[in-house]
Amino acid sequence: MTYAITQTCCNDATCVAVCPVNCIHPTPEERAFGSTEMLHIDPRACIDCGACADACPVDAIFPVDALTGGQRAYTEINAAYYAGDDRPAAGDEVEGPNFHVWGEPVFERSLPSDFGPLRVAVVGTGPAGMYAAQDLLLHTAAEVTLIDRLPVAGGLVRYGVAPDHPATKKVGDTFSRFHSHPRVRMHLGIEVGRDVTAEELSAHHDAVVYAVGASADKRLGVPGEESPGCLSATAFVAWYNAHPEAVAQGVDLTAERVVVVGNGNVALDVARILVADPEALAATDIAAHALEALRTSRVREVVVLGRRGPGDAAYTRSELLALKHLPGVELVVDDHDPRTGAAIDAAGPGDRAGDLRGLARVRTDAEPLAGTGRRIVLRFHSEAVEVLSGDATGSTDSTDGVETGGRVRSGRVRSVRVTDGGGGDGTADLRAGLLLRAIGYRGLQVPGLPFDEARGTVPHEGGRIAGMPGSYVVGWIKRGPSGGIGANRTCAAETVGTLLADAVAGALPAPKGDAKAFRRLARQRNRRVVDARGLAAIERAERERGQATGRPPVKLATVEELVATARSRRLLRLAR
Ligand code: NAP
Repeated sequence: MTYAITQTCCNDATCVAVCPVNCIHPTPEERAFGSTEMLHIDPRACIDCGACADACPVDAIFPVDALTGGQRAYTEINAAYYAGDDRPAAGDEVEGPNFHVWGEPVFERSLPSDFGPLRVAVVGTGPAGMYAAQDLLLHTAAEVTLIDRLPVAGGLVRYGVAPDHPATKKVGDTFSRFHSHPRVRMHLGIEVGRDVTAEELSAHHDAVVYAVGASADKRLGVPGEESPGCLSATAFVAWYNAHPEAVAQGVDLTAERVVVVGNGNVALDVARILVADPEALAATDIAAHALEALRTSRVREVVVLGRRGPGDAAYTRSELLALKHLPGVELVVDDHDPRTGAAIDAAGPGDRAGDLRGLARVRTDAEPLAGTGRRIVLRFHSEAVEVLSGDATGSTDSTDGVETGGRVRSGRVRSVRVTDGGGGDGTADLRAGLLLRAIGYRGLQVPGLPFDEARGTVPHEGGRIAGMPGSYVVGWIKRGPSGGIGANRTCAAETVGTLLADAVAGALPAPKGDAKAFRRLARQRNRRVVDARGLAAIERAERERGQATGRPPVKLATVEELVATARSRRLLRLAR
């Protein structure tokens, strides 16, 4: 028996480091690492020790005998990665099945022992910031100040990962053990540019690492995009994940069909949540208001538009495979364009269009699916060209529903005009109440930092911000909005490596103020700052809320609730 890596692989390569026989590939040192969607165990070399399964932060690794249902496909997916792999190369003196050639050893970067502890601020407590903090705390004596603009930690793990992906959320446990680390100070609810300047932050630390992500979304640029009921997937994800900036009664689910533009993993996440069984979602940490809305939702069909063909879909294979096994939901392919079926039929091994083989092919009608079933339609070679609002007489359904500054207000569109096949000029109108654009995220400028408007990122060299000694970037604000959670581990390793090299080279500007002075400054500027104890109080309250209703922890959904909970527990402690 061997082990196999499955759907939730986060690619952070923790497993690679613990494998005693080097049978997990690609490793971060191999070129394929940057482009692979997941890592794979070589069944011929695996010695069944289970070290990788113990180390995996997202519970993605299992003995192949334990795989059931859709997960069984991963036995073959892992093995297929090594098909035709003739290692060892001729001349290697290696015998037996454990033949993977070891590469050059990579030594962890650290500081010389006579170096005093660095004081580093990390702005952003999502995966990128926490991988950087973890790297610094585990490999150096650095003291880390964690800062987040929200009064709670977690970033994308808390507010981006879909609630029905609890294994992926488990990576948050890896990060949260550092929240109470003796060399960590936490200032949650502090925004750089609003409460403190980038200059002030630098003046109190040896180095500052910005891990602020990409919180805005891209625009389609088509007429009607500002209509009621036309929202970004970012806002919809924020709504079902109880982000404090998403309004509770925000999304109108009274129409039968939703159109999603873009076919990346975010598009699949929102499509899945829209048609999933609400009672199954009740067992997750989905926002209470979203669960309530989904229980009365009339949505039965989600049409996912991809502007290119099935061979170029942006979703990962593992997320597509999971969609095929969603209870009570049919996954079908729209074959309005003959190129779609032709690509699926002609797909060779490894061609991603082949993953759609065996799915029913349908024509999406102007009217949504009749009957009681629920389905997701993958429609390729199709783009939204206009969003039509109002009823047949032209009057609008509602004046609400406009998305403002990340907030969502309820409202409906009438239909979405989409391109209709063969690469020609034809269009079709799909009646739908909601359009979600899932066409990618975009970074926002942090006041005081340089910004590349075209890419939505901060210009840098190996993580060092151009023209700002002692300031660094990591994650999506560094490399753009692509790659899953684990990709941030190697990204953080590069940034921290640059920071430590700069420290050794004496290139870090000396700070003027110490940690206490920064704490005073932060509290002067914002009296509602939440620290590690406040965060623990929030987490406790959320656990209690969940227990009261037989659910996992239920998130507090407003800044007021979060801050009040952090403070009330503190006052309670002081009163004892
Ligand atoms: P993405 O993977 O970059 O997908 C964006 C989609 O939007 C693509 O289909 C793209 O088409 C399309 N698009 C872009 N501009 C468009 C336009 N003007 N008109 C029509 N379509 C347009 O982005 P994402 O889905 O936001 O995901 C971001 C990253 O997070 C990805 O790396 C993703 O894998 C990761 N993520 C992972 C998970 C998970 O593992 N479960 C969940 C969520 C997100 P083209 O391909 O033709 O450009």
